[in-house]
Amino acid sequence: MEEENDHPNGKLSIVATPIGNMGDLTFRALWNLKECNVIYAEDTRVISKLLAHYGLRTSVQRLDAATEAKKAKEIIVRLEAGEHVAFVSDAGTPGISDPGSRLVAIVREALPETLIDAIPGPSALTAALSIAGIDMSAFTFLGFPPHKKGRQTLMKQIAISDIPVVLYESPHRIIKLLGELAKAAPKSRITIGRELTKMHEEILAGEPLELAARLEKKGGVRGEFVVIIEPQPAKKART
Ligand code: SAM
Repeated sequence: MEEENDHPNGKLSIVATPIGNMGDLTFRALWNLKECNVIYAEDTRVISKLLAHYGLRTSVQRLDAATEAKKAKEIIVRLEAGEHVAFVSDAGTPGISDPGSRLVAIVREALPETLIDAIPGPSALTAALSIAGIDMSAFTFLGFPPHKKGRQTLMKQIAISDIPVVLYESPHRIIKLLGELAKAAPKSRITIGRELTKMHEEILAGEPLELAARLEKKGGVRGEFVVIIEPQPAKKART
């Protein structure tokens, strides 16, 4: 590969990793994880499994949301010494509902000359959009809904949106979310991407109440979810 670490100021690579299927690691990601001096990872166990799968032995350090600012300083020292540092979050693309953005901002501020390299790849967001069968030429991504404060405002925002809204949600809260959507936007068509790229991947679509019933019928809600909420029929201004 033509990419050598020919950056005297070091290089920070922000590397996207699989969201379930280990095969979804790009060649560039693999090369960067192999050739870098050190990988900073949100969860060292997750990255260790990926490295073992690909037979890599690169050294790993932890950097999670709580330590992002502190570890950024450590990374700056390494970059000043000319090292190539890679950062990975638990899954998918760093910075998307995951740590990474603060690290990038701190490094860019401290070392404006240093190359910060995007190694793009999987994200649950783009995976879900790609198989939703919905016109996504414009959409709003709001990440995880707030747990308490701000939920009502979010529901109102969704109810009046004239473009699709995309959320991430955990299995503990998906039924609650569908119940709230049933009140705020009962006629919206909801598409759920569940366990994408994994063995039990599925796409479910329907109105909120109907979907909640289908999920509950499956006996216990498991997995990871991307939720796409289409505008209610009267709001479909752009279609
Ligand atoms: N940075 C990641 C990305 O690029 O997709 C997202 C990290 S966020 C902490 C984790 C959330 O992403 C999960 O709670 C779920 O909503 C969604 N997610 C991650 N993997 C998924 C998968 N395989 N299928 C569906 N949703 C997934």
